[in-house]
Amino acid sequence: MTQLEIRNLEVCHGLLKAVRGVDLDVNAGEVLAIVGANGAGKTTLMRAIAGSHRASKGSIHFNGQDIGALPAHQRVKRGLSLVPEGRRLFPKMTVQENLAVSAQIGRSGNWSIDSIFEVFENLVKRRHAKAETLSGGEQQATAIGRALVANPEIILLDEVSLGLSPAIVDRVYSILPKLRATATTVVLVEQDLGRVLKVSDRIICMLEGQVVLQGPTAELTREQIVEAYFGLKTSRKEKVQP
Ligand code: ATP
Repeated sequence: MTQLEIRNLEVCHGLLKAVRGVDLDVNAGEVLAIVGANGAGKTTLMRAIAGSHRASKGSIHFNGQDIGALPAHQRVKRGLSLVPEGRRLFPKMTVQENLAVSAQIGRSGNWSIDSIFEVFENLVKRRHAKAETLSGGEQQATAIGRALVANPEIILLDEVSLGLSPAIVDRVYSILPKLRATATTVVLVEQDLGRVLKVSDRIICMLEGQVVLQGPTAELTREQIVEAYFGLKTSRKEKVQP
């Protein structure tokens, strides 16, 4: 079932069209990965879906309803939560307070502040610590917890592994099976192609604001993805992580 339907989406930063004519369907319960080089428009697309950045053209339907004009907090209420690139926690608030803000504007469901602490055990002892004092991994766990405690139908994860050690990234990604078990749809932006190939059901590749390749992960080769990623400009190959 199509949960999110995006048609002819255009999103601008001033005069720059960062997302150009994107059509995208997201199916309920899938893990969809968005890949592409730096500046391809992935974050801008995620922010437009979440309502943090208003699209200048096109439509976004969520569960059949047009959400294109809704502000971010109302999209959270309908079941769309973003874990933004750079985490963007409230730095002076504690872990618990960061979670509480989101729980208040979100939906009711299986996730609660207590169940977030059960899943992210490393946060328990940091419960009353200000977000600005947390390590990168603790901040990321808090950011994911903040999105989950709103009980989303779709969680948007934008480069959640950025700046984290491989062991912490493994811990962050260990949440995915739990999301699958609760039929939560996951849309993730990830630079690590190896990880994308391991965890996703479907991949879309963006280049210069457009979707240039999409398909089920099982049907795409690494070569196809890398070619689409660079638009055959092999001189930019060094930016791909194997
Ligand atoms: P990255 O992997 O580096 O995060 P990305 O694929 O997420 O890249 P975006 O961050 O969406 O790409 O950027 C798309 C384009 O929009 C780029 O050309 C970028 O320079 C530009 N851009 C992004 N944010 C802004 C901004 N706040 N103001 C002006 N231009 C921006």
